[in-house]
Amino acid sequence: MPVCRLLLLSLASTASLTLNATAQSTARVPERAVRRDIPITNSIRRAYAAGTRDSTGRPGRNYWQLRTDYTISARLDAPASRLTGHETVVLHNNSPDSVGQIVLRLDPNIFLGNTPQAAPWVPAEVTDGMVITRLTVNGVSVNLEASAGASADGARAAQAAAAAQSAQVPNQPTLLRAKTTSAQINLPTKLLPHSTTTLEIDWNHKLPGGPGVGHRMTQRWADTLYQPTQWYPRVAVYDDLRGWDTELYLGPSEFYNNFGKFDVRIDVPAGWIVSGTGVLQNPDEVLTPNARERIKRVLSTDSITQIVGPDEVGPGQATQRGAPIAGEEGDRLVWHFVADTVNDFAWATAKKYVWDMTRATIPGKGPVPITMVYLPGRAQFYARAGAVARHALEFYSKQWFPYQFPQLTLQDGPSAGMEYPMVINSNQGAADHETGHQWWPMTVSNNETWYGWMDEGFNQYMNVLSDADAKKEPANFDAYGQSYGGVSGNEAEAPMMWNANYDGPAFYGFTTYGKTPLMLSMLGGIVGDSAVQRAHREWAQAWMFKHPSPWDYMFFMSHALKRDLGWFWYYWLFTTESVDGSIQNSRTAAGKTTVTVRQDGQMPSPVVLEVKFAPGSQAIRPMKNAVMKDSLTAIVTYPVDVWFAGSKTFDAVLDFGARPIQRIRLDPSCRFPDRDPSDNFWPRSAAPAEPAQGQGGRRGPSCPA
Ligand SMILES: [Zn+2]
Repeated sequence: MPVCRLLLLSLASTASLTLNATAQSTARVPERAVRRDIPITNSIRRAYAAGTRDSTGRPGRNYWQLRTDYTISARLDAPASRLTGHETVVLHNNSPDSVGQIVLRLDPNIFLGNTPQAAPWVPAEVTDGMVITRLTVNGVSVNLEASAGASADGARAAQAAAAAQSAQVPNQPTLLRAKTTSAQINLPTKLLPHSTTTLEIDWNHKLPGGPGVGHRMTQRWADTLYQPTQWYPRVAVYDDLRGWDTELYLGPSEFYNNFGKFDVRIDVPAGWIVSGTGVLQNPDEVLTPNARERIKRVLSTDSITQIVGPDEVGPGQATQRGAPIAGEEGDRLVWHFVADTVNDFAWATAKKYVWDMTRATIPGKGPVPITMVYLPGRAQFYARAGAVARHALEFYSKQWFPYQFPQLTLQDGPSAGMEYPMVINSNQGAADHETGHQWWPMTVSNNETWYGWMDEGFNQYMNVLSDADAKKEPANFDAYGQSYGGVSGNEAEAPMMWNANYDGPAFYGFTTYGKTPLMLSMLGGIVGDSAVQRAHREWAQAWMFKHPSPWDYMFFMSHALKRDLGWFWYYWLFTTESVDGSIQNSRTAAGKTTVTVRQDGQMPSPVVLEVKFAPGSQAIRPMKNAVMKDSLTAIVTYPVDVWFAGSKTFDAVLDFGARPIQRIRLDPSCRFPDRDPSDNFWPRSAAPAEPAQGQGGRRGPSCPA
C-alpha cells in the first residue's frame, strides 16, 4: 500500500509543519502590538530635513512663513446686495523657494452652486460667485480668459480646463480655476526667495442671502444688514509642509490664512454703522460728536455704554451726514480700518444697528474696548453678551497668554457663531466659544482646514474651563475620556489626522469639536489636568503668530510633560481605537489580592485601580505605587508600560496586608475610552445601576462616584 503510506507520511509532515507555524506565530506575534512612535508623513519629514520644524515641537531654526499685506477699498451697493472692491496685496515670499504660481482663495465661488460642497446647508443663495475684472502681478496684466468659460457646468469646466493649457500666453501670467474656491495664477517668471510681489485685483460679487442662520453661508438680512466674510480675494498660505494650500472651501471646514497688515476702506450709505477687524482710523469723519463723546467713557467702567441708541437712526443721528455723490441716491461715508498683524478681516454693516460698548481688562495690558452691534429688536440676545465676552477675554488671557488685539467686536446677523480676528459674529449664546477663537486660530494660526481639532477642539476644551470659572467651580474632565469608548469602532469616523475637509457629514462635528476634550481628559488622567494646561500654554506661547502643525503639538507636549507619549498621540490622533478596560477577576491568597485587568481595545492606558477597604483594625500596609485618597480608599497606579510586552491581560498584585478589600474599581476617574464601563467593578455587583456614561449635554458626560 505504498500510496497510503505516502499519504500518511505527507499528512504527518503537514501536521508537524502546521504545529511549527503555530508555535512560531505564538512566539512572535503579541496579542496586542502597541505602537509607541508618532507616524511621520512626507510633509513633516520634509520640514525636519529643512530645519523649519524639529522634534522639540518649537519653530525650527529655519522656520519661515509668508506675509501678505492688503490695502482694500470696497463699496456696498445695498439695493443690489453687491460688493465691489479694489485691492492691492503685497506678497512677501519669505520662503527659500522660487515659486511659479500664486494660489488665490475665492471663497464666494461656493455660492455658484456648482462647486463641490461637504454639507447640505451650502449655498444659501446661488450667485455669480467672485467676479474678477482685472488682475495684475507686478503691474503685468493676468490673462483672465483661460477660466472665463469654466462656470456653468462640469462639461464646460472640463473644456475650459483643457483650453487653459493652450491659453497660457508666453510671458503673460494666466489665471486658472477662477470659478472654483481655489484659483491659481501661473507665472511666466518665478517669484524669487525673499522677494516681494504686488497683486492688484478688481473684483465684485453678490453677498448671499437666503433662509439659513447659524453658519457663514448667509451673509445678509434683506438689503439692510450685511455680514461679509471671506469677501475679498486672498492669497493662500504657502508653507514648508505642502507648499501652496490648494484645499477647496467645501463649507464646514474653516480656514488657513497668512498674517499681514490690513488697511481697509468700506464705503456704505451714510447712516449705516460699520464694525470690523482693526481700529477705526477716521472717527471724526464718520461718527457723530455725541458718539465720539460717549466712546471716551468706555474704558473707565465695566458697565455698558450706549454709543448709538435705537432712536438714533440715519445720517446725522447714527453717523455723520456724509458727502453727497453725483448720481447717487443718498449720501455716503467711507469707514477706514487698520489692523496690524492679523490673518483675516471681517466686518458688518446695517442701516439700523444699535451700538453698545464695554471693556475687558487684560492682565499686563489694561482695558480694551468690546463693541456690540445688533438690531433694535434683538437687544435681549446681547443683554449678557458684554459680560460673557469680558469674562472670556480676561479668563483666556490668564489661561494662555494676554489677548493680543486692541479691541473685540460682536456682530449681529444671520451668520451667528463665526470668528474672525477681533470680530465674532455672535450674540451671548456663543460669545465664550467665539471669543476663545482669538487664541486659535487668530493668534496661534493652525491649519483649520486640515486639522480642525487644533482650532475647535482646543476651544471646546478651554470652554469647559471658562464655564467652570464663570460659575466659580473647579473644572472637571472626569468621564470625558471614558465616553469616547461609546463612539470608537464606527467605521464612518476618520482619525483626527485625516484632512477634516473629508471627515464626512456624520463625524465632522465630533472629530473637529467633540473629540479633543476627550483626548485631553485622558491626558489629564495620566499627567494631571493642570500639567496638560501648563504644557499647552507653553506650546501656545511658542507659536503665537505662527502656523504650528500637529506634530509640533505632539512633540512639544511630550517634551513639556517629560513623558514618552508617542503611544498616546498615535492612538488618539492616527486611529479611532479605544482602551476597553475591564476587571476580569480578583482573588485573595496569603494576604495578597491579584486583580486581573484586561484591555480589549488596541489603545493602551495606565492601569488605575481604586481599592476600598473594609473598616477594621488591621493596618493598611503602604504600597509604592499607591496613594490613600481617604482612610478607606487607595488609588493604585501602574504605568502604561505594563502593556508594551504585548499581553492584553495584566495581573495587579495588591499587597496592602491583612485588611479586607471590599471592592475594586478600574479607572475610577473615567478617563480612559471604554465601551462598557460596567465591567470595571469587582465584584461586578458593585457596578452602579445606571451606565457610567451619557452624552450629558452642556455639563458633559458623568462619572458616578
Ligand atoms: Zn468654533
